[in-house]
Amino acid sequence: DHVIIWFRDDLRTVDNTALNHAIETGLPVIALFVATPMQWHEHHVAAIQVDFIHRRLRVLKQQLAVLNIPLQVMQCNDFSESVDAIAEYCHQHRVVHVFVNKQYPLNEQLRDEKLGVLLAQSGIKQSLFDDNYVLEPETILNREGELFKVFTPYRNAWIKRFSAEPSYPVTTSKEVVLSDTTSAMLADSTDIQSLGYPVIESVLWPVDEEAILQRLDTFCVTKAQDYHQQRDFPAIDGTSCLSPFLAIGALSARQCVHQLLQHFPHALEVNKEDGAFTWLNEIIWREFYGHLLHRYPELSKNHPFQEYTQYVCWQDNPTLLKAWQEGKTGFPIVDAAMRQLRATGWMHNRLRMITASFLTKDLLCDWRAGEQWFMQHLIDGDFASNNGGWQWAASTGTDSQPYFRVFNPTLQGQRFDPKGDFIRTWVKELAKVPDKYIHTPHQWDSSGSLDYPLPIVDHKEARLLAIEAFKQAKAVM
Ligand code: FAD
Repeated sequence: DHVIIWFRDDLRTVDNTALNHAIETGLPVIALFVATPMQWHEHHVAAIQVDFIHRRLRVLKQQLAVLNIPLQVMQCNDFSESVDAIAEYCHQHRVVHVFVNKQYPLNEQLRDEKLGVLLAQSGIKQSLFDDNYVLEPETILNREGELFKVFTPYRNAWIKRFSAEPSYPVTTSKEVVLSDTTSAMLADSTDIQSLGYPVIESVLWPVDEEAILQRLDTFCVTKAQDYHQQRDFPAIDGTSCLSPFLAIGALSARQCVHQLLQHFPHALEVNKEDGAFTWLNEIIWREFYGHLLHRYPELSKNHPFQEYTQYVCWQDNPTLLKAWQEGKTGFPIVDAAMRQLRATGWMHNRLRMITASFLTKDLLCDWRAGEQWFMQHLIDGDFASNNGGWQWAASTGTDSQPYFRVFNPTLQGQRFDPKGDFIRTWVKELAKVPDKYIHTPHQWDSSGSLDYPLPIVDHKEARLLAIEAFKQAKAVM
């Protein structure tokens, strides 16, 4: 008999709840990963993220081999096929128990339910674990048993609960027994085949364990202290850049919190708004969006969280959307950010807020178009955080930016990239523009020789139109 650990977005051997439980059974363990390129395409998964996953699987295979666990990679088209393929695999390999860590977006949950039913028909057990967040969904509730819809009280309740019942990384060290089947699989040294997806190289992001842990530690030692002062400036390397590892589970959120607390034991004290505390807050935002997604399946169906905002009349204009996607809006900070995203799969948090606000408020384009574009390009694409971030910026979400407060992209640029260092890295046309005019280059270029688009909208007018669109939507409800 065998047991299976099915890896999805938890690509690590350290602090992996489902893997720990699979090992604890004392039976030979087979690890599976199922590529589902058509499903990924439907979910807009970025090619760069799939390449990152592919590279990480190679490392995972070696790490699992040390534990006597062979990793088998299969390819199916979509979730539906993957369910049948796994059930079939279980029959062929005398599997008695399948272990998985839960995924919270709706299609993923439905897939797991379907597999559970199919396995049960053959007497095979399926065990699902909460692993992706430090604290389990549905554990941070208000007095009425409801999920908090505002971040700060959620955060306070989160900290209270974590302080009372800390959740530490756990790794099982029990030896895994071998069977003839697992021995034979381990002897097979063929490399992991392509995952059947377009390839965009992710080599700038390391996949080996030491490098990832080193990143976390270096952040805690050298940057966490000043994080609250540095985190908003895209030209400064002031954030951890750990989200890609969290997104594919090469690192766990528990590891992050644990490491932070090793260096800053006071980070749980709410009244100390320093770097470590602020960073912990960001990890808790990740938990907040994950827990929301778990509670509200509607979020997986393209629904806005604030009911009335479904009546906002988005002016979907393909020309404006394209200008935004290509970084040709005539707003330097927006363009620099959008070009960086396309070229590297990365965007700084402040810029995600600025560009998302610009698309939804200045261009009055539907936030779902932006959500999709981000997913298609981000190396750290994560459904819950991306949806949460977009709905925050579009003022359609829980605890979102109030609709009447609209970011001014020029002022945001002046404030967070004062000398234009970030802008000049990505908008080469503006290389020679003096600092003073870097955010309003056409004021400097009176001769009109600058090869850079004029602003595609007038911010003042666009702001009023956006506010009006929200007011009208409110009036419908
Ligand atoms: P740090 O500042 O070092 O923060 C540490 C960790 O906390 C991050 O790695 C991340 O896991 C978490 N975190 C930080 N900020 C947020 C936040 N606002 N919401 C949720 N979690 C947060 N994050 C993703 O991981 N994937 C996405 O697809 C994603 N899409 C976004 C879309 C929009 C429109 C916005 C406004 C934000 C989005 N974010 C997303 C959140 C945030 O921008 C990134 O997590 C952050 O920029 C990652 O950089 P970092 O690792 O250096 O973060």
